Amino acid sequence: MDTTNNAKQQPCDCQPKPAPEYPNQVTGMRVLARALKEIGIDTMYGLVGIPVTEFAYIAQGEGMKFVSFRHEQQAGMAAATHGYLTHTPGVLLTVSSLGFLNGLTATINATVNCYPMIQISGSSEREPIDLDQGTYEGLDQLNVAKGLVKAAYRVNRPEDIPIAVARAYRAAMDGRPGGVYLDVPTPCLGAVIDADVMEKALFKMVDPIPAMIPSPESVDRALALLASAKKPCILLGKGAAYAQIDDKIKQLVEKTGIPFYPMSMAKGLMPDNHPQSAISCRSEIIEQADVVMLVGARLNWLLSRGHGKWNPNGKFIQLEIDPMEIDCNRPIAAPVVGDLESSIDAILAKLPNYKMQMDPTWLPTLQEITKKKNAGLAAKLAPQTVPMDHWSALSACKKVIEANPDIILVNEGANTLDDTRDAIDMSLPRHRIDCATWAIMGMGMGSAIGAAVSTGSRVVAIEGDSAFGFSGMDFSTICRFKLPVTVVIFNNGGIYNGIGKPLDNTTDPAPTTLDINARYDKLGDAFGAKTYYVTTPAQLEQALTEAVASREPALIDVQLANDAGKESGHIGYLNPAALVDITV
Ligand code: ADP
Ligand code: MG
Repeated sequence: MDTTNNAKQQPCDCQPKPAPEYPNQVTGMRVLARALKEIGIDTMYGLVGIPVTEFAYIAQGEGMKFVSFRHEQQAGMAAATHGYLTHTPGVLLTVSSLGFLNGLTATINATVNCYPMIQISGSSEREPIDLDQGTYEGLDQLNVAKGLVKAAYRVNRPEDIPIAVARAYRAAMDGRPGGVYLDVPTPCLGAVIDADVMEKALFKMVDPIPAMIPSPESVDRALALLASAKKPCILLGKGAAYAQIDDKIKQLVEKTGIPFYPMSMAKGLMPDNHPQSAISCRSEIIEQADVVMLVGARLNWLLSRGHGKWNPNGKFIQLEIDPMEIDCNRPIAAPVVGDLESSIDAILAKLPNYKMQMDPTWLPTLQEITKKKNAGLAAKLAPQTVPMDHWSALSACKKVIEANPDIILVNEGANTLDDTRDAIDMSLPRHRIDCATWAIMGMGMGSAIGAAVSTGSRVVAIEGDSAFGFSGMDFSTICRFKLPVTVVIFNNGGIYNGIGKPLDNTTDPAPTTLDINARYDKLGDAFGAKTYYVTTPAQLEQALTEAVASREPALIDVQLANDAGKESGHIGYLNPAALVDITV
């Protein structure tokens, strides 16, 4: 991808376009900026170059915030996080070909995770693309995107842009949220139309996110099943957090008195230390619950698809917006298809008609187990081991983050992900963002930026050293935009750990080995951040306390032992190679 405005690299077979006689004439770029504003988009994330550079300036001129990145994938991760946290589509802007492809990975990730976002990409003129003749940054982008994202559109005429943007908005938001691609070829961006044609084409959407009301029968069926359960559980997913109906979820949990189990990003929707929290009782829920109510959560691989150790006689209620999700892994006895707000409203309204028959020993049993598990966790966190391992480092992070519950925690890595999720309690909704359903690495800096920009909150990103490598350069974006983000890098010198052994036939580093002596703090120095290099839990606690209090960009290099960590965290079974000899 080339982001220079070098005329030599432009195709020269197009005629120079007449300059628009602004304000009576406008370009497609102006229409696009106005159309986005009209639907309430006030922020874009992206990386400019031919053919979208001028568009970014025009959008800024129209009062939009443009957050310029170093890599499109991270800009896309930011847009997706923005969408998840604000319940409006995050917008990513990319250039043609490689920029588009780099960004597309994030748009696909958003689709997998049900985050609403729109990737807008400039693309080359159609004629040489359709004849496969080759052109500057030529790629048939629309056809590449189709099938990988929730919806993909191309707009060819400036006067169609308001409709295209509305279609993209509805596709991103309505039903199951996801990533949408909007292709805008260069000729459309540069085409000139009369300003009054633009004004006529612009419109306000009526009912942009319509309610989807569940059928009354489905609500009664679900309540009857829930009421009959002896060992029920409410399983909260990130769809429940995304819906921003926190008080209604709280009422559902507290009025039924049923224990709840949050998926990773639903942590904090109800406080992890709530008396009904069964967060430490995953295996007991799976093995014993007779009725599980899935609320904005999929019975997907993260839950063994409802198979494996799940109670074979257990039944499921599923509150879900997408009817095709129902029965996709295990039969669902009571589907409630609707948007969560409407579904929970309907359930709460009818709840007084049903008497819960929960076994009175079920919750106390889970509370006992929780106490034991908490004691086990405290024992893991207690030894202030030096050189640090994940647990001693997390003992310091836990103190600071739990004392500052407004902080949004971004988290990726292998052991760094698993152990942080277990160690740090969340007490507020939508304050934990991680690799989620696709389990990908390389969302850290982008998600931290999207979280900080879209909420104004302080953010701490706890990153494995390998995970940080995927997005590290966009730490400079945190610095340029002076965001209140602290990046904490757990350096154990490698993927899983730093003690991978090279095979006998090579002097190259082992595939899992990175650099235990790397001084990531010096990367922060390059961009003017506050930086720290820490080797003990006490130093880490002090550095993190100071960094988050400053509300300035900060980077903490946390020196772990190179043998801290093990392969694949809690999901080692996914990697059979860990169990057999590696031979060449
Ligand atoms: P988790 O990984 O936390 O279990 P998932 O992303 O797997 O969460 O599941 C979220 C589910 O929530 C998806 O099936 C999605 O369709 C659903 N969902 C998202 N938004 C809403 C909403 N507003 N109302 C109902 N369901 C929703
Ligand atoms: Mg590591």
